[in-house]
Amino acid sequence: MRMSRLYLPTLKEIPAEAEIVSHQLMLRAGLMRSLTAGVYTYLPLGYRVIRKIEEIVRQAMDESGAQEILMPVIHTAELWKESGRWDRFGPLMIKFEDRKGREYCLGPTHEEVITDLIRDEIRSYKDLPLNLYQIQTKVRDEIRPRFGVMRGREFIMKDAYSFDRDFAGLDKSYQIMYDAYTKAFANCGLEVRAVEADTGPMGGKDSHEFMVLAEAGEDEIAFCQQCDYAANVERAEAGFKAQEDNEEMKPLEKVKTPGQKAIDDITAFLNTEAGKTIKSLGLLADGEPVLVLLRGDDQLNEIKLKNYLDVLELTPVADEDFTEYFNSVAGFIGPVGLKGVRVVADLRVKSIRNAVAGANEEDYHYLNVNPGRDFQVEEYVDLRMVRAGDRCPRCEGSLEIKSGIEVGHIFKLGTKYSESLGATYLDENGKEQVIVMGSYGIGITRLVAAAIEQHHDENGIIWPKAIAPYQVIILPLGKGKAEELAEGLYEKLKAAGIEVLIDDRDERAGVKFNDADLIGIPLRITIGSRALERGVIEAKIRRTGEQIDIPLVEAVDGVLDLLEKIE
Ligand code: ATP
Ligand code: MG
Repeated sequence: MRMSRLYLPTLKEIPAEAEIVSHQLMLRAGLMRSLTAGVYTYLPLGYRVIRKIEEIVRQAMDESGAQEILMPVIHTAELWKESGRWDRFGPLMIKFEDRKGREYCLGPTHEEVITDLIRDEIRSYKDLPLNLYQIQTKVRDEIRPRFGVMRGREFIMKDAYSFDRDFAGLDKSYQIMYDAYTKAFANCGLEVRAVEADTGPMGGKDSHEFMVLAEAGEDEIAFCQQCDYAANVERAEAGFKAQEDNEEMKPLEKVKTPGQKAIDDITAFLNTEAGKTIKSLGLLADGEPVLVLLRGDDQLNEIKLKNYLDVLELTPVADEDFTEYFNSVAGFIGPVGLKGVRVVADLRVKSIRNAVAGANEEDYHYLNVNPGRDFQVEEYVDLRMVRAGDRCPRCEGSLEIKSGIEVGHIFKLGTKYSESLGATYLDENGKEQVIVMGSYGIGITRLVAAAIEQHHDENGIIWPKAIAPYQVIILPLGKGKAEELAEGLYEKLKAAGIEVLIDDRDERAGVKFNDADLIGIPLRITIGSRALERGVIEAKIRRTGEQIDIPLVEAVDGVLDLLEKIE
């Protein structure tokens, strides 16, 4: 491709709306432009990268035995109501009516549509197992579309769905997808880690997310420093050993604590530490009041609580409603003497001794509160957010926490959708059985951003060769001989099947160098008059900065050899 003809609107300045490097570089390197928040047009270079990734993913899926289809973007409301997710997915779905007043949504994911498809077609155990996938545009009205294609409202996803006779079959299909994902990401030139994940509104049991570790990531992952335990903090557990606190229980005492509501205030006021306080949170779980207890130095993991209570929504109780729901006072609520309220406590609360807790009375706290003696809890569960330094749940090692970008997610759905939508088959004995399902997604467009987060420097993008829009860029510097040789090399490389750019623009050398770095082409070949006097052309590897002279007489082979070696 000739740069003089390429639609490549680059930017010199960092666009103000872009907070993270990948977003900045995708705009600056002319990969995409935004139509409105979270909605993008992919320009020639960007779309080439997307197609490269799609092709790598497609190949891994095809090799795994999955078959490609293409499902609609428009989904009927009836189908989503049948599965019970019309409300559950909530405002994330863009819903609309047609001219006859029938309701629809734009597909945020396709479990419903695919289950509807196969429930009419799969009859017998002989039709299973089956895995169907598509690469298609998804629409989700994200609350906070941001970071460019990292969290778009319209984005490209590869989604696959497996259908098996039983859970043993699902385990196999899941492992096949796990392996296919591992391979696809490696083939893209990315370092990706699989971590245990929460299943969220998809439902189901086992689930893994594939994470690109990067500062800009919106997910937090807990890793064990000794074993291979890794989990999204949304579900990560810490090793828990009930500690025998031998401290003698002291008599309960009520003290005046005027205006001291937050844990920080109360610890300062009473000269104690957060670990010696009981944090009491008054919440509404799908509208029902529940008091949640944590050690003062722990944070609530809302996902763990939601999963445990099996509710969709947790909302804090408004200050003025504390009397109504808890017969208590905001800022001074506590478990001692509280009646008729469901109390759920984190495991670490059980062993706390002589703690501080709210006294359910304006401006008062209790000292020397002891669980078991001063209040009873029926439900002790793991509710806390893990922290760096916590013990690993699997071994004696300790956990560290890193940011990651979720580029893929696989779920063992089980029979959630096949049951609600009635997808069954007849087994060998002619008995009707429910189909067991899995679902598997890769964020194709998010992967572009993740790749840039992992592969860039201060001058621009450094594409892994496998997903680079072009592999080689030729810079002719000067007219005459240099130009002629550059054109010749360009034609020969193209004939050899290499994707090659030639910067034939009438620009200064500096501009050409900068643009080549910015758009991240793995191998740059400069053909200038001074080097030609020495009988060489100059190669530079974008990733390492290494410069290599290639003798003019073996230019084509020299470039091809070098390209082989680049990652
Ligand atoms: P997130 O937690 O980041 O919102 P999710 O868990 O809702 O994502 P899934 O339903 O698991 O997403 O979708 C499969 C994959 O699609 C994700 O792993 C991610 O790579 C990609 N993806 C999801 N939402 C978006 C989005 N808004 N923009 C770009 N890619 C997305
Ligand atoms: Mg996910």
